[in-house]
Amino acid sequence: MYFVRKLKLGVSEQLQLLSRAAGELYSQTLVSFWRVVRKKGLWLKPATLMRWFPSDPENRLHAHSADAVVQSFFASLKSWRERRKTDPNARPPRRRRYYYKIQWKASAIKVVNGKLRLSNGKGNEPLVIPWAWDTPVWVEIGWDGRQYELRACYKLSDARPKEERKESGVAGVDLGEIHLAVAHDGENTYIANGRLLRSKRRYQNKLKSTLSRLLARKRRGSRRYRRVLASGRKQLARLNHQIRDILHKQTTRLVSTLYARGVQTVVIGDIRNIRVSADYGTRLNQKLHQMLHGQTRHHITYKAERLGMKVVLLDERYSSQTCPACNKRNKPRGRVYRCGCGFEFHRDGVGALNLRRTYLGSGLVVGVMASPTGLRFQPHALCSSAGRSHPAV
Ligand SMILES: [Zn+2]
Repeated sequence: MYFVRKLKLGVSEQLQLLSRAAGELYSQTLVSFWRVVRKKGLWLKPATLMRWFPSDPENRLHAHSADAVVQSFFASLKSWRERRKTDPNARPPRRRRYYYKIQWKASAIKVVNGKLRLSNGKGNEPLVIPWAWDTPVWVEIGWDGRQYELRACYKLSDARPKEERKESGVAGVDLGEIHLAVAHDGENTYIANGRLLRSKRRYQNKLKSTLSRLLARKRRGSRRYRRVLASGRKQLARLNHQIRDILHKQTTRLVSTLYARGVQTVVIGDIRNIRVSADYGTRLNQKLHQMLHGQTRHHITYKAERLGMKVVLLDERYSSQTCPACNKRNKPRGRVYRCGCGFEFHRDGVGALNLRRTYLGSGLVVGVMASPTGLRFQPHALCSSAGRSHPAV
């Protein structure tokens, strides 16, 4: 399993030159490859082209970085072959690149004295970047639309927890509408708050409708039309960034809390069916469809797996209605779940409690539960484990 650390680098002359060198090499590879196809009807192998082009024209790139460029071309060729099986409109890679991503393999990567040293072709300065982390096995620098972005890949050991279903290491995670996610690990309940997220979503909807109303009054393509469109796109992009940020921070927080508690298995309520089957009227439908469940589930899954935890999806029908103490089904009213048998608990924790119980196949819950701990959104929290040395938390 891999994980990637990203870093924004801005723009520099050295990066421009390297990226340009990679672009030239990519174009050379591409042109030669298709020329041979056209003239001889031969589809060359990567090894041949790597032999033809051991480096870029000016030898700026490390030999292995040059190989990586050729390999990238063949990778896109391969992906086209895959795609065309299902998509008749799939196009092979034909476009020349003026700039192209630069890649370094392990042989060209070193970390010395808090600096990441990426070697280049003989006689060229290495690329040096301040670095506080471990040595990656693969580094790629590409353009993110505004500036260069470094992506450092790490390989994580595949140490997986054992299959046993030990009571102590299992947490149920219930994805909700009011809360982003609620987790229960047998002792404690954690709530990843989703209030701010919801308000952003609401604002997003409002903004979208305001925009379409404004646009409807203007002539399509006119100057005013374009102005409103541009401003709207900017505002929406900003909102999207904020939503993404909150989602990342909250899920990271939840997962690292569970990890710190010694959780090895995360059981997530699977509600993928809700979208297709449920119809609760337009208002609630909008709410349901926008719960971002898919994304939340995805974030929690990969973040937990990155820390070596196992993730299980469970069908969560009625999990938030069933009483964990007597199995009776109640419609919860208000913030507290109450059952005729005397069981009382914070309403949002019940789903997580039941998910954990179902997975463990264990009996009914008895005794008094600790009340839930809220995990509030902290704007300055770290989004990923990027700030720490991985994979510790
Ligand atoms: Zn009950």
